[in-house]
Amino acid sequence: MKELAVISGKGGTGKTSLVASFAALAEKKVLADCDVDAADLHLVLSPDVKREEVFHGGKKFAIVQEKCSRCGKCLSLCRLDAIRENRSEEGEVKKVRIDAISCEGCGVCAYFCPVEAIESFRGEAGKWFISDTRHGPMVHARLGIAQQNSGKLVTVVRTQARQLAEEKALDFVIIDGPAGIGCPVIASITGTDLVLVVTEPTLSGRHDLERAAALAGHFGIQVVVCINKFDLNPQIAVQTREWCWRNGIVVVGEIPYDPVFTQAQLRAKSVVEHAPGPTSKAVEMTWLRVRDLLQQHQAATELPAQRRDRAGCSPRALPVKPPPPVASPGRREEGL
Ligand code: SF4
Ligand code: SF4
Repeated sequence: MKELAVISGKGGTGKTSLVASFAALAEKKVLADCDVDAADLHLVLSPDVKREEVFHGGKKFAIVQEKCSRCGKCLSLCRLDAIRENRSEEGEVKKVRIDAISCEGCGVCAYFCPVEAIESFRGEAGKWFISDTRHGPMVHARLGIAQQNSGKLVTVVRTQARQLAEEKALDFVIIDGPAGIGCPVIASITGTDLVLVVTEPTLSGRHDLERAAALAGHFGIQVVVCINKFDLNPQIAVQTREWCWRNGIVVVGEIPYDPVFTQAQLRAKSVVEHAPGPTSKAVEMTWLRVRDLLQQHQAATELPAQRRDRAGCSPRALPVKPPPPVASPGRREEGL
């Protein structure tokens, strides 16, 4: 079983649309929507929830009013100004309370409260689900509003997806990762076999691609790139391709800008289901290249260690050769 994480340095690159199409194209896989702060894969895959569990995030704190002497010590200690006091018109402190949204659960106030009036509890921070979809099983989650610990919830989703893949002897776990390079992204990619960064030909897209690739590189994970909407700015698309080439990163797909992406979303379908044509073909070619790389990783894993050493390859460090330019259907002539 091999894990693919699809991420993007920034939002709006078409990452989830691509994952939805991979879901339609791949066989024997489980889907993991790890974009728990802004989950949207379920909008396309219409999951039928089979199991629902509560996610308990980090500790929360609350003041037991009967014990509180209103000394004000906790107010001065909280670095996040999460503790508030209610005063009467005469200025007398009536109540000291913790704002649950501002509190990050460090516990300093509870530690120093002279009368032990501050108690911790674990509240519901979200939910995670195992569902059936028309393209197979999916593990997904919903983080509550203003809740933290999204990285922890991502880890829960990934653990469940891996278990499911092992139980059902599936070949792939396909992860829809969050945008950016923060904690939930790190939780989404660590220990995976391949990271696909979806980018677009803009300056910010280029910048975010470099950050995402550096992050995956830091964890020793092979990175490949898909340039979505490559024909919107052929000059930057060429620069992106050259940057990938220089850094030994394979460009596994170049997909033209096509309104069928939006049309497919409106019909709650993936592009390959909604509109077979040149763009769908480009998406399919991208998946086939990704699948080949994952299968190479699988083959390398199954090689006995001795032979692997002799061959000079390991499951995590496959030789990466720059590919010939990708010939996407519908590709424009200019700038290529
Ligand atoms: S430190 Fe304890 S007793 Fe003092 S105001 Fe805060 S909660 Fe109340
Ligand atoms: S737990 Fe930490 S962040 Fe929360 S109110 Fe107490 S001191 Fe402030």
